[in-house]
Amino acid sequence: MNVLVLGAGQLARMMALAGAPLNLKVSAYDVRSGNLVHPVTLEVLGHGLENGIADADVITAEFEHIAPDILNICQASGKFYPGEEAILTGGDRRKEKTLLDKASVNNARYHTILNREDFDTAMNTIGIPMIIKSALDGYDGKGQWRLKSIDDAESVWLDIAAFLQASHQGDRQCVIAEEFVPFDREVSLIGARNANGEIEVYPLTENIHTDGILSVSVAACENKALQAQAEAMFKAVADALNYVGVLAIEFFDVNGNLMVNEIAPRVHNSGHWTQQGAEVCQFENHLRAVCNLPLGSANRIRPTAMINIIGEVTVPEDVIRLAHVHWYDKAPRPGRKIGHINVCADSPTELADKLEQIATLLADDEFPAVKQAASSLI
Ligand code: ATP
Ligand code: MG
Repeated sequence: MNVLVLGAGQLARMMALAGAPLNLKVSAYDVRSGNLVHPVTLEVLGHGLENGIADADVITAEFEHIAPDILNICQASGKFYPGEEAILTGGDRRKEKTLLDKASVNNARYHTILNREDFDTAMNTIGIPMIIKSALDGYDGKGQWRLKSIDDAESVWLDIAAFLQASHQGDRQCVIAEEFVPFDREVSLIGARNANGEIEVYPLTENIHTDGILSVSVAACENKALQAQAEAMFKAVADALNYVGVLAIEFFDVNGNLMVNEIAPRVHNSGHWTQQGAEVCQFENHLRAVCNLPLGSANRIRPTAMINIIGEVTVPEDVIRLAHVHWYDKAPRPGRKIGHINVCADSPTELADKLEQIATLLADDEFPAVKQAASSLI
């Protein structure tokens, strides 16, 4: 079976690697250049979306910030999963918030802002502090403002107004003000749903962010009550979208109550641990779902942590003795995700020990959350 992925980054690469044993041939459409490429070697295989669609049995996506006309063409082919609506929803916070409300899942109070009047209303109804996020194009904490004091209202509004003015998205762009959630921690749930509505969900992962970017994810949670809450919300959202594929949901844990932060209609960075820590990894399960094959078990086979490799950093070879290193073959740039490290153990205590050992091999400023992840396990 031939699978075309919209986007030619590391997620398409890892899908291609996971699909090979099932004879699933994954190619990628680079939406920027219009080239069809091999997702692992990046060798150019052809050009043009129409050619990619003609050769594909199934089309999917590795990211949600894709131009609507591309999504529309893919949808018209009848081969696109999870499909236009799901990708548009994941890429537009306004649609996303509407979906969360429709699915009746707990999420932060919000107000949509198109102009200064809306901004004032948001300050009055949401209250300060509040977080303001762009509706389109936000990722890794980009396109966000934090209003912490009324004294900063003017300058924050000027920034937002300039942002809205400069946006190339026209009417589609706006910003959403959200209440500031005083969470204890951030967790995420990854799961797969197939066309028959069958669902396989992985255990919750605890995520530590640094400057808005995911640093470390730990899959060692044993909290059954939290898992049950997350799974119920996952089912509500996935069913509301009639979703096919892997879907990720990020949550805030506030005193044992989960609140959805956002969804990602695709395989997700906080699910990379499944490559070594789960019976069937998220990349394979995504392909199984979109290719209408039976889903695989999402059971965790051992406590596992994932450490992101971000920017111009070094990873000594000794780390390979202790863990699984996955490089994306990308040129290092500040803030750019260029690989990750999966660390597995037989117990949470052993995982904490291994993370401590790995932390001694890595520079603290380059890998800021490894020690914190270790201590969260004890
Ligand atoms: P991603 O790369 O995950 O797509 P993003 O740029 O789309 O990130 P969010 O996940 O919405 O943005 O926000 C980034 C981080 O900012 C969150 O992980 C969380 O730490 C913090 N944050 C976001 N919204 C809130 C909120 N309402 N209250 C408190 N903190 C928040
Ligand atoms: Mg996020």
